[in-house]
Amino acid sequence: MYTLNYVKAKSVKQAAELLSKHSEAKLLAGGMTLLPTLKQRLARPTHLVDIGDLAELQKIEAKGGKLVIGAGVKHHDVATSAVVKKAIPALAGLASAIGDPQVRNRGTIGGSVANNDPAADYPAAVLGLGATVVTTKRAIAADDYFQGMFTTALEEGEIIVRIEFPVPKRAAYSKFHHPASGYAMAGVFIAQTAAGVRVAVTGAGPGVFRWKAAEAALAKSSKPDALEGVKLDSREFNSDIHADREYRANLVRVMAKRALAKLAGKK
Ligand SMILES: Cc1cc2nc3c(=O)[nH]c(=O)nc-3n(C[C@H](O)[C@H](O)[C@H](O)COP(=O)(O)OP(=O)(O)OC[C@H]3O[C@@H](n4cnc5c(N)ncnc54)[C@H](O)[C@@H]3O)c2cc1C
Repeated sequence: MYTLNYVKAKSVKQAAELLSKHSEAKLLAGGMTLLPTLKQRLARPTHLVDIGDLAELQKIEAKGGKLVIGAGVKHHDVATSAVVKKAIPALAGLASAIGDPQVRNRGTIGGSVANNDPAADYPAAVLGLGATVVTTKRAIAADDYFQGMFTTALEEGEIIVRIEFPVPKRAAYSKFHHPASGYAMAGVFIAQTAAGVRVAVTGAGPGVFRWKAAEAALAKSSKPDALEGVKLDSREFNSDIHADREYRANLVRVMAKRALAKLAGKK
């Protein structure tokens, strides 16, 4: 064991103050990623600042064409929220397929988006829907937020407060999950938004990315064969014991086809 200080923050403001006072402090939300990291000694913070139960981070509301989800909302609550199911059913469906019941009852949307695991599900929805990540310091467009494997635009001491999702005309997500963890070996989120079609891919590459060639193809046609033969640059896709690059590239195509089929059946 090594010594660290645990502080249960009373507000986001207090959490931000603690982070700026202690340069080696870390936020704790659901702990689903952070606690294993601590156990393996991959991180050794001096302070854990617990924001997991802060009421101000737990809101879910739909207003003015946006679905707003507080950073502290747990996956289970996104999956079962009537507000989310009505505004963006694909997002509720995505949350319901994360990990297992234990993970869904502890893990938070803010923790997932802050962590930006290359195989996580929420980044596909945040990027696919063109959402905005609102922090204690600024609002960051999804296109600027995700910067590769476990890397985001978040700066030292910056806390995600909420995610604002523009409500799309339609959206659908399909993933091929790793049988042990539930993480995406490949996941494709397609959204028909006011600004056009967006396609985000998770699990396959070093980080979530937009598949621009698919977006261009879907802007012309949304027929079931619209993505047939569309260019997919898989040179930097992950190759590991679970799946090689070519297999992942094939999974992306299959998941995209499935998401497109789901999209056809949704309003
Ligand atoms: C067995 C297992 C299976 C899983 N399967 C899946 C899966 O299928 N799909 C999937 O997408 N994910 C999966 N996950 C990840 C899980 O969904 C969590 O969302 C993720 O681990 C992080 O969320 P958390 O709330 O637990 O964050 P924590 O572990 O508490 O924190 C993670 C990181 O984010 C930082 N952080 C937390 N909240 C904020 C905030 N508001 N602002 C800024 N930084 C913050 C922390 O300081 C830390 O660095 C799995 C995890 C496990 C353990």
